[in-house]
Amino acid sequence: MQKVEHIGIAVKSLGTSIPLFEKLLNSPCYKTEAVESEKVNTAFFKSGEAKIELLESSDPEGIIARYIEKKGEGLHHIAFEVQNIIVEMKRLKEEGFVLLNEDPKPGADNKLVCFLHPKHTNGVLIELCQEK
Ligand code: ZN
Repeated sequence: MQKVEHIGIAVKSLGTSIPLFEKLLNSPCYKTEAVESEKVNTAFFKSGEAKIELLESSDPEGIIARYIEKKGEGLHHIAFEVQNIIVEMKRLKEEGFVLLNEDPKPGADNKLVCFLHPKHTNGVLIELCQEK
């Protein structure tokens, strides 16, 4: 794995949280993007080399809506950049980690992504991402 690419934060409303994070980071939101397949709307900020990704559910039954219902708003995942997601997925699987998707899937920000089950990573949802 290479650097931390971004940190994902689950929020109830991008309308509220975009201005909040613009104030916090003193940096404008530079992109918003809907990921239909995941039922999320995302908003991105730069923080040095890393990014902050805000995630708002676009569906009351979506995965982020259910997460917020259970745990409230807050830290949702940490994403690491990888050079070859297939190789890294294979390596982690061999190490005993559980992949939440068996094939890389399209994520926000022109990435291929794969998530690891938090049960095996001290409760932290880990995302692998590779630039498409
Ligand atoms: Zn992410």
